[in-house]
This record gives sequence, C-alpha cells and structure tokens, in this order.
Amino acid sequence: MAGVDVETLQRWLRGFAASVAEQRDALTALDAAIGDADHGANMHRGMTAVTEAVTATPPADPTALLKQTATVLIRSVGGASGPLYGTLFLRMASATGGETVLEPATFAKALRAGLEGVISRGKAELGDKTMVDALAPALDALDASLAEGGSLATALHAASEAADAGRDATTPMIARKGRASYLGDRSAGHQDPGATSAALLVAAAAAAVSGDG
Ligand code: ADP
Ligand code: MG
Repeated sequence: MAGVDVETLQRWLRGFAASVAEQRDALTALDAAIGDADHGANMHRGMTAVTEAVTATPPADPTALLKQTATVLIRSVGGASGPLYGTLFLRMASATGGETVLEPATFAKALRAGLEGVISRGKAELGDKTMVDALAPALDALDASLAEGGSLATALHAASEAADAGRDATTPMIARKGRASYLGDRSAGHQDPGATSAALLVAAAAAAVSGDG
C-alpha cells in the first residue's frame, strides 16, 4: 500500500473499538486488581463515542479524523486514560499537516509525536508500569523495521509484537504513575491495564494497514 489514508485510519479506529469492546471486561478486571475497575468501561465508552462521531460526521482527511478522535476521547472518557489517549491522537493530528495520504515515515513520525505527548502530559518513564511500556518499544520496533526497508504492514506487525512484549513486561513492575502507584510494591504481579489497551491499539493499526482489520 502506498500510504495511510483516511479510510485506513477509520479501519484502525473501528478495529480498536471492536477489540476494546471484546476485551472490556478483561481490561476492567486488570484495573480492578491495581486501580478502580473502570479502564474497560472508560475505553469502551470513549471508542464507542469515537465510532459514532466519525460515522455521523465523516472527517475529510487524516488530520481532521485524528483531531476529532482526540476531542471525543478527552470529552467522553473520565480517568487518566482519556486525556492521555486524547493527547496521543491530538499530537498525531498536528504531525500530519493536512496531508491526505500519509507516507509510512509520516505515520511513524505522527505516532512518535503522539507518544511524546503522552510522556509530556503524564510524565511516565519506561518501567513505570503504564501504557508507555507498550507504546515506546512498539514505536522503536516500527522505526527499526522501516529503516531496514520493511513495508508499513511488516513494520506495524513488528511493532505489535513489541507492544505485546512490553505489555507482558509490566506484570512484575512496581507502578510509579497513576492510581496503581498508590499500591506501591503491591502493584507488582499484575499486568497494567493501560499497557494492555495500548497493545490493542498497535495490533489494530497492524491489522488495518494489512487490510485484515
Ligand atoms: P484511572 O487510573 O484514572 O482510573 P484508567 O483506569 O482508565 O484511568 O487508566 C489507567 C491506565 O492509565 C493505567 O493502567 C496506565 O497505563 C495509564 N496511566 C495512568 N497514569 C499514567 C501516566 N501518568 N502516564 C501514562 N499512563 C498512565
Ligand atoms: Mg481506572
């Protein structure tokens, strides 16, 4: 495929919404262990609202779609994850500069800008047991695969595998950000809910770009 157009991004968001709907109870169960048992409900509410909004008012280009997604998430999701995911999409929107078809490198750069937004807003570092622990290794793998000449689909599959590994690696970590950090050492031994939803986000991107989303 030549690049990422608004239809591909729509497939990504719908695919993510479908995964979140399917995993809602599992995400909530993870958050019940180290948080307040609302991550599945939060993400499901947010992505349902996103899907409805982009269906009601289909955005013309990637920038508009990403901006609309951000706005709806920030408005509809209570909790830490709404503003953080909202920031990710808002920074992605800013990095796409109104282009109608994003080159693979532009899409990767936009995702990187999104991650930097999450980090600057939430102040989480790698190893703090947050969504950053899935997103950062995923984007490193994405960049590495593209640099080796891999297609965007191949690179996003590598990113998805890295996100899953990053998600799994949160289990032994002690949380240093968000509600789970209130538990201190007792947060260890539980997979982070936000890293889990972030891995679903990356998997949905791989599926959407491969055409099997
Ligand atoms: P809340 O914690 O407000 O109930 P959610 O349950 O929806 O919000 O989301 C919790 C997830 O948000 C955590 O599992 C973690 O991955 C992520 N998170 C929390 N605080 C931060 C932060 N400062 N930076 C990055 N991610 C964070
Ligand atoms: Mg919660």
